[in-house]
Order: sequence, then C-alpha cells, then structure tokens
Amino acid sequence: MTATWRLRPSNFQHEKTGMNITSSITDGNQNPFDLDAFSQGLYIDGQWRASTSGNSISVVDPSTETTLTSVADATVEDALLSVEAAARAAPSWRDTAPRKRSEILRRCFELMIERSDMLATLISKENGKALRDARGEVAYAAEFFRWNAEEAVRISGEFGMAPAGTNRIIVDYQPIGICVLITPWNFPAAMATRKIAPALAAGCTVILKPASETPLTAYALAAIYAEAGVPAGVVNVLTTTNPGPVTAAMLADPRVRKLSFTGSTGVGRTLLAEAAQNVISCSMELGGNAPFVVFDDADLENALDGAMVAKMRNAGEACTAANRLYVQSGIHDAFVEGLAKRMSALVVGPGADHATECGPMITRKAVEKIDRLVTDAKDRGAAVICGGVALQEKGFFYPPTVLTGVPPDAKMAHEEIFGPVAPIYRFHTEEEAISRANETEYGLAAYVFSRDLSRAMRVAGKIEAGMIAINRGLVSDPAAPFGGVKQSGLGREGGQHHGISEFMEAKYIAASF
Ligand code: NAD
Repeated sequence: MTATWRLRPSNFQHEKTGMNITSSITDGNQNPFDLDAFSQGLYIDGQWRASTSGNSISVVDPSTETTLTSVADATVEDALLSVEAAARAAPSWRDTAPRKRSEILRRCFELMIERSDMLATLISKENGKALRDARGEVAYAAEFFRWNAEEAVRISGEFGMAPAGTNRIIVDYQPIGICVLITPWNFPAAMATRKIAPALAAGCTVILKPASETPLTAYALAAIYAEAGVPAGVVNVLTTTNPGPVTAAMLADPRVRKLSFTGSTGVGRTLLAEAAQNVISCSMELGGNAPFVVFDDADLENALDGAMVAKMRNAGEACTAANRLYVQSGIHDAFVEGLAKRMSALVVGPGADHATECGPMITRKAVEKIDRLVTDAKDRGAAVICGGVALQEKGFFYPPTVLTGVPPDAKMAHEEIFGPVAPIYRFHTEEEAISRANETEYGLAAYVFSRDLSRAMRVAGKIEAGMIAINRGLVSDPAAPFGGVKQSGLGREGGQHHGISEFMEAKYIAASF
C-alpha cells in the first residue's frame, strides 16, 4: 500500500516523489514522513501563517521525551484574526446547499480513512498511545464526518396549528453562528471531529483550539479538510500556550455564539463563567469517574474482556475509563486473579511500536499524579497485586496496575486516575453497588456486568451517568448521544440529531394566512 497524502493545497507532496524527509518517522506501513510538514503555522482563513508573536511551542514525544517539532504559539491578535475569518466565511457556508455540505463532509471521511496509517502514526507519536488505539481513534474520528454528512441533509423543522387556531407555528432550525471549539490531548483527532463535523453540517464556521501537547494531528486534519473542499475560513485552527486570554478574547467577540469544550471539569467551570458574560451557548464534555460494576452472576471472561477495554483503552487516559471497579464478593477473587494476569501480560512500550499495548502517559506530571494516587491508596491499606511503581526509563511510563482493598476514602475513588491503574473494591449487595457507584460528583459513563438483564437494566436506571454500558467495555459510538450528567458536563455529542442540535437554534415564526 502506498501513502499519497497531501499536506496543504498549495504544496502537494508524496513521500516518494518530493516530500522533504528530515526525520526517520514512518507510518504503520513503513512509509516515511516529515513531522515538520505538520507544523507550518496557524491555519487561519485557509492559509498557514506564523504567529504574530513569532513564538513556538515544542511538541514532545512522550515515549522518548525528545522534541518532535514545534508549532506556532498563537496570540490574542491571531485569535481575533480567526474570528474575522470565520465571520467572513459564515454567510456563504450557511447558504451552501446541505447536499453540497454533506458531500464535502463525506470527502473528509474518505480522506481520513485513506490516510489512516499516517494519522494513526502521528497520534501515536505526539500522544504516545499504542498504534492499535490510535487506529481505533482514527476510525472513530472519521466516522463523525460520515455520520454528519448523513445528518446534514436531514435537518428538518416543525409546522403546526397554534392551539388557539389563530395562526401556524413554524419552527426553523438555523446554524447557531461562529463556534469556538476547545479539545484535550487524549483523543487529538476524535475530540476535534466530534465537534467540527456536526458544526459544519449545521452550517456553522469554527475556530478549533487543540491542546498544545498534541497539535500535529489537528493541523494534519486541517489540511485534509481543505483538500476535501472545506472553504477558507470555515475551519480555523490555532495552538497556544496562553489558552485563557486567547479564549477569553474570542468569547468576548459578540459574533461568537457557541463554545464547545472537552476537557477537565475545573477548566469547564471557568469557561462557563466566562461564556456567561456574553450569554454564549455552551456544550461541556468534562471529566469522569466511571464505576465498573460486576455482579456474581456475570460471565467472568466477558467481564474481564470488558474491564481491559474500559480500563486500558488509551492506557487509561480516557474520560470514560473505568476508574472504580466494584466487584461482588462471590466473583471478587476470580476477577482479581484474571485481571492481574491480563494486566501483567500487557506489552508496555513506545506508542508507535507495533507490539505496544500500553503506551506512555502524556507528561511527567501525569505520571507523578498517578504515583501520588497509588501511594495514597497504599498508605490507606490497599494491596498491590501487580504494577504500582512508576517505571524509571526514558519516557512517561507507568505500568499496568491492579489494587485491591482500596478504602472508599482513598483519593483515587474521587479523582480521575487517567492512567493504567485498576482499583478493585469488594461489594455485597445491589443497593450497596448503586450507592457506591453514585458517590461521586461526576456522571459520565458506567459499566454493569450481569447475566440477569432485568437486574442490569434496573441498576443502569439508578446509576447517575449519561452513558451506561451493559456487559461491554466500550460505550462510545458516533451514532449515540455522548455526554455526562452532574459535574461531567452539559449537552451531547453524536447521536441522531443530538450532536447537530448543539450547533443550531430554533427560530419560531408565527404565521397567519
Ligand atoms: P484540560 O481541561 O486541562 O484542557 C483541555 C483543553 O482546554 C486544552 O485544549 C487546554 O489547552 C484548554 N485550556 C486549559 N485551560 C484553559 C483556559 N483557562 N481557557 C481556555 N482553554 C483552556 O484537560 P486535559 O488535561 O487536556 O484533558 C483531560 C481531561 O479532559 C480529563 O478531565 C478528561 O476526563 C476530560 N475529557 C472529557 C471528555 C468527555 O467527552 N467528557 C473526553 C476527553 C477528555
């Protein structure tokens, strides 16, 4: 298979026919590519531009702690240029026929799939996740374009008689306006496409601010959107080390009507307060603390398979990651033994190595946080079944870890671990499992394992979470509404009409005729 990606409309390149190869990076099919090609500047108004400050941000490979390349560090001025570009592009994009918008989105999907090896390698390099996880992410991320290409031509309104019989009630759904999209480092492709695709389908123009740890994927995708036919100014991408002031300046511009944020609950709260100043519509996909509940009657092998996915996808760096594993006393010991066996057998290594099953964490700080949480649990009496000590070699590695006897007041019961650590808590009754599952300010995802479907459904109904998986370890699906309750967020992404509705506003027309 050959890689034939083009990076920028103005610079068609192919690794065999002209790309300037300065690094030894290869994609999943051993085709070399140049990482510097993904760091040509901010992407504003269809152009690659240097930052007005001239400053740059180093992008570090978490597997080796070496610098991969650097990207532009945007200023407030750059952010305002992006808003200008998005405002200029807005009228013609909202008037572009839905069928045409749909075809462009479909082309984005096709190009992402065509270049999935390159994109997966890029994600693995800058994020550190195992290639198999990165491939899964690219497929998931691309699917938001296919799904929303289908949604773009299915936006319909409402028409009815007013109860008084005096007039018709007509409801039209219109694009909400310019959207600021902010995404985290843990899914650099999917968190962006989960916002960009529905926004574009609805007829909005956007400014994406990806996390500064993983900007290369966002820029590689920007080049793909341009190639797919997304007009200049419809998608703008900027990276910055100064996210507070840069975002505040955009939110202060009255033309910006939407903030869609994925990240931590703490930053989400700050942004909600800022957005309130201009009464900007907010969608918030925030942190999680997912309970993973296994009843005595569960299929043990299936529960273990599910736990490995729910805990270890992305090496535990997922908002939906199983953060607290509640296992009923009758199956507890067999579950602990099975999970420890599987966790200890995982190959830990550099993300972009084919054999790797568990890559590094994103930063040294992330490893230190995990270490603190594990030490706290140990100090409070938890037993380490495997792992439990940070690895010393180069790279931000933490080993797959299983803990038992974690007391309910351990810090890791209340905070996101965001790493490959599975704390197992023993429980006895259904009521106890439900009340302990709900002992958190978060409410994003939860997992329930039982062969008794009526019990599983009853428990699913009582757990306070936006998403529940029954007898499976994966819940995310572009065709289903993703989102949380309590402090895990506001709004939904994906799903039939849910995701796209976040980028539209209802306009009611009272008509007498
Ligand atoms: P983070 O909140 O630190 O950063 C997220 C984004 O916000 C980044 O782009 C960052 O640069 C930006 N940011 C930081 N401070 C800002 C400010 N003052 N103003 C504007 N932007 C600012 O989160 P993170 O560490 O990148 O990601 C991990 C968190 O994201 C976890 O809590 C995880 O649960 C959450 N997450 C949630 C979902 C979901 O769908 N609910 C998905 C993925 C990750």
